[in-house]
Amino acid sequence: MGKKPKNLWLADPREVLRASEGFDLATVDRNSSPGWDGGKKEAKALMKSRAALLPELQERLFAEGRTGGKRSVLCIIQGLDTAGKGGIVRHVMGAVDPQGVALSSFGVPTEEEAKHHYLWRIRKALPPAGSIGVFDRSHYEDVLVVRVNDLVPEEKWSKRYDEINKFEEDLVKDGTTVLKFAMMVSHEEQGLRLMERLDRSDKHWKYNTGDLTTRAKWQEYQTAYQAVFEKTSTDHAPWYVLPADHKWFPRLAITEILTRTLSEMDLNWPKPRWSVETQRRKLAESMSTESLITSLEETHDNVESAMADSIEVRHEVAAIPGIDDAQAAEVAAARKEAWLEEIDAAVAQKETILRDRADLPKKLKKKLKKKAKG
Ligand code: AMP
Ligand code: MG
Repeated sequence: MGKKPKNLWLADPREVLRASEGFDLATVDRNSSPGWDGGKKEAKALMKSRAALLPELQERLFAEGRTGGKRSVLCIIQGLDTAGKGGIVRHVMGAVDPQGVALSSFGVPTEEEAKHHYLWRIRKALPPAGSIGVFDRSHYEDVLVVRVNDLVPEEKWSKRYDEINKFEEDLVKDGTTVLKFAMMVSHEEQGLRLMERLDRSDKHWKYNTGDLTTRAKWQEYQTAYQAVFEKTSTDHAPWYVLPADHKWFPRLAITEILTRTLSEMDLNWPKPRWSVETQRRKLAESMSTESLITSLEETHDNVESAMADSIEVRHEVAAIPGIDDAQAAEVAAARKEAWLEEIDAAVAQKETILRDRADLPKKLKKKLKKKAKG
């Protein structure tokens, strides 16, 4: 379990980083880490602790989806070349079970995609219930690169902002939480990162000669991004603007926002529609006395390892604002109590079943009888 790392967020990063009314991209210092009262080292420590919390939250969402739940989460990641979109997939999503993550990258539309409405390929890639979808680029390219390069007439792209808002609103209504992240590097930092790609033969595959054409249109892209933030940072699907010159900052911020979002979804392990007791009795009927004895011995270990994994018991919900330490301790104590009751119930039922077995070793029979009498 270890020591709880310091949570150095001065405020909820969703409030600090959100593009709200009056937002001006030109004033964003790309080399800053808004809302975070620490540096890289502290960020890594918190990321590490979140890396233990995220997989359980994600697994709960997945379990909910498998048992009829409709909820999902979609992380839309935008940014110019070298902003670090790939790093998010590795460092943030790398922490969770790949079967619960639906990753899609959107490049220049294929011949097939180009025949359809621009949202066609997006709809096809939406995360199924219970999963976390990650879009590396998205439908926003259809008002970014498309706008900057005049790929369709203004009359057409200018109508897309409203259409996108409506599209996302419907998504949210259907149970998808939409988180939009824009990773913003400075012109200088992009130059350095592109040069590194040229210097290293293991990075050449990431370089595209077209990247320089895009870089030459820096200002046009900033204007197009500003318009995106003004027109599409809605209450149902807000934009979070992440200064990205420090590679660790967007990773930390996205991890934190995702963790807080999942925590607030109040995800609980689904309750079975069948009776544990009945199923345990039926299963026991098919087991030898010898293996039932083994199972009795394993009961504590099984439940205790679940208890050790439980985020409530581990106190980690405490790091999420809205729950203070005392409250978290209460939640932890209550959850622990419930686990212990589960152990007792399982042990008691197994002992009852075993007592009636004719081939139960005498010594154990005596012990269980004595225990039953209290
Ligand atoms: P990368 O993410 O580096 O693999 O590059 C993908 C490229 O595809 C970028 O240059 C994007 O601008 C481009 N792209 C993505 N979506 C579209 C689109 N709808 N129309 C034109 N180009 C696009
Ligand atoms: Mg690229």
